[in-house]
Amino acid sequence: MAEYMDIEQRIASALEKISQAQRSLIWEVSTREKLSPIQIQFLIHLDRFPAEQRTVSALAREFDLAKPTVSDALVPLEEKGLIARKTNEEDRRSATLALTAKGKKKLAALGDWRRALVDAVSGFSAGEKESALKFLSGVIGRLFDEGVVSVARMCTACEHYRPGDERHRCALTGRGFGDAGINVGCASYRAPAGDKRNE
Ligand code: SF4
Repeated sequence: MAEYMDIEQRIASALEKISQAQRSLIWEVSTREKLSPIQIQFLIHLDRFPAEQRTVSALAREFDLAKPTVSDALVPLEEKGLIARKTNEEDRRSATLALTAKGKKKLAALGDWRRALVDAVSGFSAGEKESALKFLSGVIGRLFDEGVVSVARMCTACEHYRPGDERHRCALTGRGFGDAGINVGCASYRAPAGDKRNE
């Protein structure tokens, strides 16, 4: 007899399947470019984020990894000349990481590895996509509240988010938006005031 799980369990299985698809897509690029999946994610992060989010500690927090694991993964990137570190003058124990010109070239060669996933989403109606974004950001928000996700990096769990009945606002940029405009992966994200994860 076929096993029939509760809807929550089936949704969790569906999310796991999507995560598996994502892993498989990044592995394809990773094998081709001789970089590990996490090294690819580090290159993308270092390209997009401001200096204060380009330290070993920030990477560890962002990707829920231990600092030694981050440092180990960075060594080959430095050896290949894809990234460089600059010691902070005020605190010589910490350094800011940045892509080199060679690193930027490598990033361009990686291409849009998520394309198949984005294409799979694009066939749905605007209403379906809006509902999905609202649902997924709600799930991420709960995982963030539970401490399972260290950096939510999206509007509804951001210090700058000002919710409204139909229109919301980003207090940092002044942008007004509905549920379809919820940002995920925002470089300007900040955890709510007083949250120790800002430290
Ligand atoms: S800073 Fe980014 S995540 Fe925060 S509310 Fe503004 S757009 Fe959203």
